[in-house]
Formats: sequence, C-alpha cells, structure tokens
Amino acid sequence: MTRTALPDSHLLRGTAAGNTLRLVGIDATNIVEEARVRHHLSKTATAALGRTLSASALLAVVLGKQPGSRVTVRVEGGGPIGWIVAEGSNDGQLRGYVREPAADLPLRDTDGKLDVRGIVGVDGELAVTRLLDNGEPYTGSVHLVSGEIAEDVSQYLGVSEQIPNAVLLGVYEEGQQVVSAGGLLIQAMPGVTDETLVKLEANIRHMGMLTDNLRVGGLLHAMTRATEGLDLRLAPGAQPARFECRCSRQRALDSLRFFSAEDRQEMMQAGGQEILCHWCNEKYHLTPDEIAALDAQPEHGQA
Ligand SMILES: [Zn+2]
Repeated sequence: MTRTALPDSHLLRGTAAGNTLRLVGIDATNIVEEARVRHHLSKTATAALGRTLSASALLAVVLGKQPGSRVTVRVEGGGPIGWIVAEGSNDGQLRGYVREPAADLPLRDTDGKLDVRGIVGVDGELAVTRLLDNGEPYTGSVHLVSGEIAEDVSQYLGVSEQIPNAVLLGVYEEGQQVVSAGGLLIQAMPGVTDETLVKLEANIRHMGMLTDNLRVGGLLHAMTRATEGLDLRLAPGAQPARFECRCSRQRALDSLRFFSAEDRQEMMQAGGQEILCHWCNEKYHLTPDEIAALDAQPEHGQA
C-alpha cells in the first residue's frame, strides 16, 4: 500500500493583538495516524481519539508550568466508544487509547460528517488531570456539553480554569488514512478588547474547517487565518511532537513484581507471560528466564 508522506507533527506558539491573545497549535497528523494503526481504530474512533490527543498537548502547553509537564484528558460520555484517554506533554510527547477501538457509526445524515458525538455520547464528563506545583495530582472535570470534544475542552478551560478561550480540533481521513489532524487553542488574556474578540470570532467563522486549513497551508496557515488583521507574532521555533509511550520491556517485567512468587512460578511454567501496554498497544512477551531473573535482581526505580 502506498502512503502519502505526512507532515512531521509539531507545536507552534504565538501571540496576537498586542499580547492580548495567546495561541498554541498542533499539527498532529502523523501522531493520529500512528494511533489509528497501533490501536486498529475505526474511522470515527480515530477522529475521537485524534481530537482528544491534540487537546491533551494544547492543554499541557497552557496549563503546564515545567518543561515536560503532562496533562491527561479522559472523556466518558456513555456512548459505544466507552472512554477515551489521552496524555500530552508540553514538549510534544503524546499517547492515548480508547475502550472500544472498533466502535463506529455511519456518517451523520444532517451534515455528512463523522459522528464523534454519537460514539462518545453526551451523558458524562471530561476530566483533566495535571500535576500542581507541589507535585500533587489535581483533577478537574466538566459535564460534557457536546461530545464533539472541542467544545467540551473549551468549556473545561472556561469553567474549571477560568481561562476565556476558543478551541478548534479536527481529524480528516481519506479512505483508511489520516491526512490531516490537529488543534488550535486561543486564550484571551486580561486587557483584550471587545473589538479583538469580535474580529477573532469572525475569523474563526470564516476560516472553515481546521483540517482544510492544515491541508492547504499547514499549521502556520491556520494560525494566520484565525488572527487575520490581529497581528500574529509567532514564537521562534517549532516544537516537534510525536506519539511516544513510556512503556518498556523492563517496566513490563517490573510490573510482575506485584505478583506473588507462586504466581510468577505459574507464569514460568506456562512458558512465559504476555504484558500488553494499553497506552500504545505494544505487547511484551516475557520469557521464563526473564521472569526467573526478576527474583535475583534488585528492584529498578519506578517512575
Ligand atoms: Zn506503551
């Protein structure tokens, strides 16, 4: 199967309207494509996870205080997908999964679009977990308002974090392949004028689908369209982003320490043990020799 080369995923940041608007955007095309392949996602599940993955990176940039700060977004709305979990860091590391990767629905009659709301559902919440400055995890949540993800993330930022904002998220697929995916988050800062907000709203209304903008001219084009007439100032340098899990063979092995010695004996007698990482769907086949060596090894640091 031939594949079109996808743009390398990256984050861009900027300000507009004399620092009264802050922007962060992500082109997550090849990240979402990798998620689709790893998890064998249906077309609609790809869109749902792709939007949530993109949102997790944008939230990590907006809410993360330290380099490498991570944010976990969990969406559960009672629909056939079950739940969606995505983790993003402000240095561009993303991973995520869904409960039911095969969940799918026909295109919506009303607008011919993927029915993300239909597989997510609206009877539930969106929860965001991050680490506070003191290292304690903090989770805030909002009831889902749309199930389409972008509006729900926007609601979270507005209500839970008191940040006035606009959020655009999108995944566009052709056949079985993701051809453009990403997100754009615009924060209104103190001192923003009504005139700026009116202009911003008009720009967003007229720019069309985010994914069309990404396909036509990339992330910078989308950010430029959203801030037309508002003097976009781009922060120097794009932050590369990628689908990257923190699992490893050693971590999979270390997880067996939580079992009793008898349980490990049984695993060895059964010819070894398979450990599946839910985040990235990687399977680790641990051999009886590796399991036997665990009892002789000092414990590795758990992070
Ligand atoms: Zn993993």
